[in-house]
Amino acid sequence: MKKIYHGSCHCGAIRFSANLDLAPEGQRSEPARPGIWWNSTFRCNCSSCLKTRFWKVFATPEDFTLLSGDDMLTEYRFGSRMIRHVFCKRCGVHPFASADFEIMGGRFYAINIVCLDDASGEELANAPIIYEDGRHDAWDQAPELTSYL
Ligand SMILES: [Zn+2]
Repeated sequence: MKKIYHGSCHCGAIRFSANLDLAPEGQRSEPARPGIWWNSTFRCNCSSCLKTRFWKVFATPEDFTLLSGDDMLTEYRFGSRMIRHVFCKRCGVHPFASADFEIMGGRFYAINIVCLDDASGEELANAPIIYEDGRHDAWDQAPELTSYL
């Protein structure tokens, strides 16, 4: 079920809210857009996600609000430079990324679930996860090993 969550970086400079569905299969709302991206959370072994421990859930721009800290964001882009990864200038936490991919239905945010302050341990533990083998550019396949992600 979709629910409004509140998230922040470690020092609290960056704050946001997002209307997200972390529920397991059988309890989920209608996905925001077509495609698997809107049906699960994702963990990936690519060079970026692995090093930042990024655990993402996608949100449409309508479902994401930056509440504070726009001036505290610093951005990092790599590879095709199409994804805007943002970090807090003070504490270094990576609360979200954003991009605009046609295949995903346009502009979107990828929110780092572990930055949600009001998601319970139970919600995190029960959230559906799709694993992506980003290290081998096989985004539609799970890596051989996933337990360390
Ligand atoms: Zn911070």
